[in-house]
Amino acid sequence: MSADPDCLFCKIVAGDLPSDMVYRGDRVVAFRDIKPAAPTHILVVPVDHHPDVVQLAAKDEPLLTELVTVAGEIAKAEAGGEFRLLFNTGAAAGQTVFHVHGHILAGEITGLTA
Ligand code: 5GP
Ligand code: ZN
Repeated sequence: MSADPDCLFCKIVAGDLPSDMVYRGDRVVAFRDIKPAAPTHILVVPVDHHPDVVQLAAKDEPLLTELVTVAGEIAKAEAGGEFRLLFNTGAAAGQTVFHVHGHILAGEITGLTA
């Protein structure tokens, strides 16, 4: 799966919608969450469209590894390297955007949306 024309994060990845991008690689990008729930709140996102982290793991394990590696590098640069990496998986668990994204969270969490 590559891109979904109706997907918000596919549009951000493609540059069709604005974002505060902190990392751009060939297969992974990262941008600041529009509604930060912590002093550091960055979303790490594969360029390819995969609905959630479990489906990403099944389809492209190296890409999942790259996502985690990039998250660690960003957390090191932004917050000393200690962080939470959260993947909401499924609507009942709070997932609202169905293009897999890891929430990089560091510092005090002040509230996570739904
Ligand atoms: P989820 O609830 O799916 O785990 O996380 C979706 C996250 O995307 C939320 O934390 C929300 O604030 C963020 N978000 C939603 N729309 C946008 C947007 O247009 N730009 C950015 N940068 N973040 C967004
Ligand atoms: Zn997408």
